Amino acid sequence: MCDKCKDMRSLSKHLYELASICTHLNNEEKYESNGRTRVINTSNFSQWLKLASQMKSVEIDAWAFPGIDAMWCRPAAEALDAESEHFTNYSTPLTKFIFIYNALEELYKMMAHQYDSVVDQLNISKKMRMRSASLKSSKLLELSPDLILPVHFEHLCKNYLIYYEEYDDLFGLELSKATLEYNGKANFAIDLIRNLRNHIAHGVFPIIEDPDYGGDYTGNEKRLIMNLLGHSCRLAALYIQLFLSNFNTGINSGPVYAILDFYENEIECDIDEFFIDYISKLHIEGEFGFNPEEYEKLRDRIEY
Ligand SMILES: [Zn+2]
Repeated sequence: MCDKCKDMRSLSKHLYELASICTHLNNEEKYESNGRTRVINTSNFSQWLKLASQMKSVEIDAWAFPGIDAMWCRPAAEALDAESEHFTNYSTPLTKFIFIYNALEELYKMMAHQYDSVVDQLNISKKMRMRSASLKSSKLLELSPDLILPVHFEHLCKNYLIYYEEYDDLFGLELSKATLEYNGKANFAIDLIRNLRNHIAHGVFPIIEDPDYGGDYTGNEKRLIMNLLGHSCRLAALYIQLFLSNFNTGINSGPVYAILDFYENEIECDIDEFFIDYISKLHIEGEFGFNPEEYEKLRDRIEY
């Protein structure tokens, strides 16, 4: 593992921090679609992130319908145990990614509004404008200069691309060269994540057999799928951070001010600045955090 990757919090701790940030920001935006208006709030969709952070295992039990062989044949029983383990390994990061993406998708709807004001300012013609919230959000990043990027963002996007290229190669997706070429833009990897989510939503995403028992798989496919899903979870979370640190509408939470007041005395900088800076590095191990381990240490030192 390289020095940058070594800095990272575990994915579950990272997601827990992100869920807390979304709750404390408590930002709200109206979203109109098909003539109906809905209010989207960061603290509502933070629940998806919290559940993802607490998700240990999504169990698949091949014994549910074992077939007659398993009643008396030992190898068949072993194969069923292996199958349960294999698909449980598979389903856990897959489900986690879906949960995180659900939060990202709600955030897209909040960002759509920001995109609309940017294209108005830039006088972009009606027919050149994006329609879906997900594409609006991606373009918003492309059109916005001087974005605050999460720490090690470029490194993590480039790592993701390595897995994505292998995914394309192993499963014959034939993605275009342009899709797979790193262009240095902030929205580069969000387009890859959206693609992957569409593969899952439309049933294209491969469900492979246990390589120890099934068919043509060598083991490379499973290793790749596990890495790809793990990195997709990480990057989807980093994109939530990227949107929040650049397009938030301020902190709307009482308790967080008590914590940040304390920090203001310690670090002598603006509270909002500190909080926004924290959003860009909450995936990195540090002294400050909303997870119980760091929060408890902090609480002992704060006078409310
Ligand atoms: Zn690294």
